[in-house]
Amino acid sequence: MNNKVVYTPGPTNVRENVRLARVQQATNPDIDNDFFHFYKNTCDKIASILNTKNDVYILSGEGILGLEAACASLTEKGDRVLVIDNGIFGNGFADFVTMYGGEAVYFSSDYTKDININELKCFLEKDNDFKYATIVHCDTPTGVLNNLREICPILKSHGILTVVDSVAAMMGENIDVDEWRIDVALGGSQKSISAPPGLTIVSVSEDAKKSMISRKSKIVGFYCNLLIWVDYYTNKSFPYTMPINDILGLDKAIDNIIEEGVKNVLERHEKIAIAIRNAIKDYGLELFLDKGYSNTVTAVKIPEEIGALKLTNYMLEKYNTLIATSLGQYIDKILRIGHMGENARLENIVYVLNIIDRSLSELGFKSNGRLVDLFNNYYK
Ligand SMILES: *Cc1c(COP(=O)(O)O)cnc(C)c1O
Repeated sequence: MNNKVVYTPGPTNVRENVRLARVQQATNPDIDNDFFHFYKNTCDKIASILNTKNDVYILSGEGILGLEAACASLTEKGDRVLVIDNGIFGNGFADFVTMYGGEAVYFSSDYTKDININELKCFLEKDNDFKYATIVHCDTPTGVLNNLREICPILKSHGILTVVDSVAAMMGENIDVDEWRIDVALGGSQKSISAPPGLTIVSVSEDAKKSMISRKSKIVGFYCNLLIWVDYYTNKSFPYTMPINDILGLDKAIDNIIEEGVKNVLERHEKIAIAIRNAIKDYGLELFLDKGYSNTVTAVKIPEEIGALKLTNYMLEKYNTLIATSLGQYIDKILRIGHMGENARLENIVYVLNIIDRSLSELGFKSNGRLVDLFNNYYK
């Protein structure tokens, strides 16, 4: 299991100081007031990066927990929910909606581009009777980035609450929770934040809280009930024992981002992503997307005669390097370069591009040049 080079779009590489932060001697997180302050402080730092005054909580469970918790807490039997679907995660939200008794109504569009604002506007003019809408910020299997700055305020203008899965974007792409009017924003520890998997980050607006409190029926379940968090700090009581060592690691990862400067972190992602996209095209491969590129992951079409699975298996066996294909219908078609968080660093990217280039060439692909050279033409 050890010493592989991992370049997947999450989990990402974890810096040594984050790994070390996790091995500290820990206190009892249920009764030690110092831990309540520490936890709150970590949440406050995250809130400032997300540009929000909303409550932020860290839940014990991988990113999917947040998606389910948002749907569990907001959905009552028969509620109509708009599921904005231009990717595999976007589509999958419908499962959580229906699981809790809601009626999922899709607004679906082509998976090769971001959501078209005008088409969404037209759709909403005819039908806008939705309690909330779900949308994915960066849909990781294809790397499409949706324009939340435009989309969420439009939804809110129709009285629709907004639930955003930003697990793969948060802290690699800008997110302005308050200005963009996001009611529930969801993140995970293992993507651009570059801490190990296991934690969900969730911000909850007053509108969302009100909607949860004024339900006619009780929220089903306990772990997925976001209301159990609301008074934790006033009451100095967590709903369950917090995974303190995971949170020590997350806090350090957040400090790393703050220390580098959020603006610098976002710029680092952007510079690397632009150079990779251009280099891939010059090299002779096609990007999966026509538009709406996220700066956290790049989906590259792999020629059929090679196949993405054969390529990734080859890279693992020959070069001990783990790079992901995609999910579902794209599993053998797309190679995904995960350049988020600690992965978005020049020294590592150059290494990985070299491995991709060598492997493709050894599998018979005829390129227009060396991928690293092409990358260097754009990386300034
Ligand atoms: C990673 C990710 C999640 C979390 O899900 P896992 O598949 O369990 O890692 C949720 N949403 C998006 C968009 C993600 O990229």
